[in-house]
Amino acid sequence: MKHPKHERTLVLIKPDAVQRSLIGEIIKRYEQVGLKLVAMKFLVPTEDHIETHYTLDPAWRKVTGEKTIKGYVDKGLEPPEKDPHKVTEALLTKLKKYMTSGPIIAMVWQGAHAVAIVRKITGSTEPLMSDVGTIRGDFVLDSYQMTDSDGRSIRNLVHASGSVKEAEQEIPHWFSAKELIEYRLVQEQILYDVNLDGILE
Ligand code: GDP
Ligand code: MG
Repeated sequence: MKHPKHERTLVLIKPDAVQRSLIGEIIKRYEQVGLKLVAMKFLVPTEDHIETHYTLDPAWRKVTGEKTIKGYVDKGLEPPEKDPHKVTEALLTKLKKYMTSGPIIAMVWQGAHAVAIVRKITGSTEPLMSDVGTIRGDFVLDSYQMTDSDGRSIRNLVHASGSVKEAEQEIPHWFSAKELIEYRLVQEQILYDVNLDGILE
């Protein structure tokens, strides 16, 4: 089995975060925890690229539709649709509009438990519910209630892979093998070295 320090995850800094001048702040949070940046690009994605990104997992349409319907039911609200696939189709249309509205940054971060650590720092999907101290909790105030009445996607600043399997599908969708840079970061010695030798002279 590979050492956990080799785990990688995909992060997208979404158009709203770029417009709100949060690029540096967001990168800082992943950087300061000890993760290593292994790839980065600045681009305006196409709608096709975004649709493929969200549907890399063939179960995504069903799972996200069901999760969204459950969200309405749990709040005592009537879901807009009963068919999970129709719910997801409507989400996807709005996501494509949102994600292609301006430039974004795509990045790959590597380090021990990169997927879970990045999700923790990022916070939960709906900013209204995201914990204080997370990116979504600290820098944005959006809610499903507002996005539903305004007919748009939730603006939550960042996308981060939801699982190791998702990361393994998403990274090659955004980066070629050549764009992922293999290098040593000096701090890895302190984060991962078992003996911490070589500090004292
Ligand atoms: P993430 O991994 O935290 O971004 O969330 P998901 O992978 O579950 O969902 C992807 C995207 O679908 C989110 O960023 C939202 O734009 C949208 N989405 C997911 N769940 C819901 C929901 O319950 N309601 C609404 N309106 N949008 C949702
Ligand atoms: Mg997700």
